[in-house]
Amino acid sequence: MANPKFLNFIDGAWCSSKSGKTFSNINPANKDDIIGTFPASDAQDVQKAVESAASSLEEWQKTPPPKRGEILFRVGEILQNRKEELAQLMTREMGKILREARGDIQEAIDMAFYTAGEGRRLLGQTVPSELPNKFCMTLRDPVGICGLITPWNFPMAIPSWKVFPALICANTAILKPASDTPASATKFVEILLEAGLPPKTLQLVHGTGPEVGTPLVKHPQIELISFTGSSQTGQEIAAYCSQHHKKVSLEMGGKNAQIVLEDANLDLALEGIVWGAFGTTGQRCTASSRLILQKKIASELTHRLLNRAKNLKLGSGLLSSTEMGPLINQKQLEKVSEYVQIGQKEGAQLLTGGHPYREGECSKGFFFSPTIFTNVHSQMRIAQEEIFGPVLAIIEVEDIEEAIHVANDTSYGLSLSIYTQDINQAFHAIRAFKSGIVYVNAPTIGAEVQLPFGGIKHTGNGHREAAQTALDIFSEWKTVFIDHSGRLQKAQID
Ligand code: NAD
Repeated sequence: MANPKFLNFIDGAWCSSKSGKTFSNINPANKDDIIGTFPASDAQDVQKAVESAASSLEEWQKTPPPKRGEILFRVGEILQNRKEELAQLMTREMGKILREARGDIQEAIDMAFYTAGEGRRLLGQTVPSELPNKFCMTLRDPVGICGLITPWNFPMAIPSWKVFPALICANTAILKPASDTPASATKFVEILLEAGLPPKTLQLVHGTGPEVGTPLVKHPQIELISFTGSSQTGQEIAAYCSQHHKKVSLEMGGKNAQIVLEDANLDLALEGIVWGAFGTTGQRCTASSRLILQKKIASELTHRLLNRAKNLKLGSGLLSSTEMGPLINQKQLEKVSEYVQIGQKEGAQLLTGGHPYREGECSKGFFFSPTIFTNVHSQMRIAQEEIFGPVLAIIEVEDIEEAIHVANDTSYGLSLSIYTQDINQAFHAIRAFKSGIVYVNAPTIGAEVQLPFGGIKHTGNGHREAAQTALDIFSEWKTVFIDHSGRLQKAQID
């Protein structure tokens, strides 16, 4: 089987790691299918990438923002033209079904066009002064060299959320993608170059968190770290950045919940639960891993859900019949299995699944049966900790107040949803939910690039990706006062 060799992109050239070391990436649906060999980089490669990114800063900052936007517009066009081929590769290396891989690339396309438009906006403000003949405005300044660290679950969408706004704000950047999905990241960088991005503006360094991520975070010339991944890694990065006065934006884990009230449209809720819990094999930061049901409808909905979950078709995401692909790797398979044991020990009742799925061709990959627990209470670990797999915990409640209390009863704060046909209850939940994202009559997943994305509590650190809020991550506000009175004027004193 072909084993293509992929490279880093450093200092304007495709290259191996300095050490010459490599790692292989495999298809999680079929361990025999090798996606390719990638450079196992380290601090030496990061050093070269930073030097190059520093050398290109001035030139890139002189490029007018609309010109920077035009490059991103071309990126969107190329992504559109190559969408199918890129989706096939993404499904092979990440496992998500083809329809979802197309969606991942579509999100990068949307982000390219949206951010291209920012090239002609990057709006600041003009604000009145309290003094006569004084003009006040705000401008956006670039931050500098950005270290962009991304996870494997959205191999192209998440890099696009970071790279495009970083570039439009006139920063240069170093992308360190997850080592489970390096091929999609490589294609992404190739497309930026094809679109006309000056080569030293963006660097791509493959490798592990400790070997590449840590040196990137610790490099004194890196001004900003934008990280998406687990809360544990994010916390370590944030601790270092705060000690060294680095700007840091974090998008981390979630323990998202869907509430279904007794007045809800149950057919609609059922579709939302299946998509929210088992879409992307539960490996979305916004996946619905808790289902909070009002008692009156709990047994009917649980019964119908069980039927759907048992009949989900598992397999390679490349097959059009497949509804759920594999987990990303062996480690994740073990982690999900361990949580099933934890749930059982805690006294939750396993309704279906709970084991790796090895029927037929699935024996070659990291498949796990759709899993549902009932009799869960909110303090159980399976209701508190992020599992990141197709595991749903059902919690029954008396009324909306208890439902909202349970939904908020977690250290995470990414996405919460409520199904109800009562507008008053919906607005009550919107206000009471402690999360960055709220859905009404829709599952907890489904970001759109023109809206802020991110969470509170252990999910984030106050920033929001996508939308115009991303610009606040990748630029610094500069406040300008122009006094044209010809005399010294003293604010708050004159
Ligand atoms: P992870 O934290 O293990 O890795 C994320 C990235 O950080 C990878 O590129 C990894 O190589 C790198 N990394 C690991 N250790 C590092 C270190 N010490 N220093 C610097 N970089 C390091 O997470 P993962 O398993 O790849 O992704 C799954 C997690 O990501 C889940 O917790 C999920 O909820 C979260 N996630 C969050 C969002 C969001 O927007 N909130 C989106 C997608 C995924």
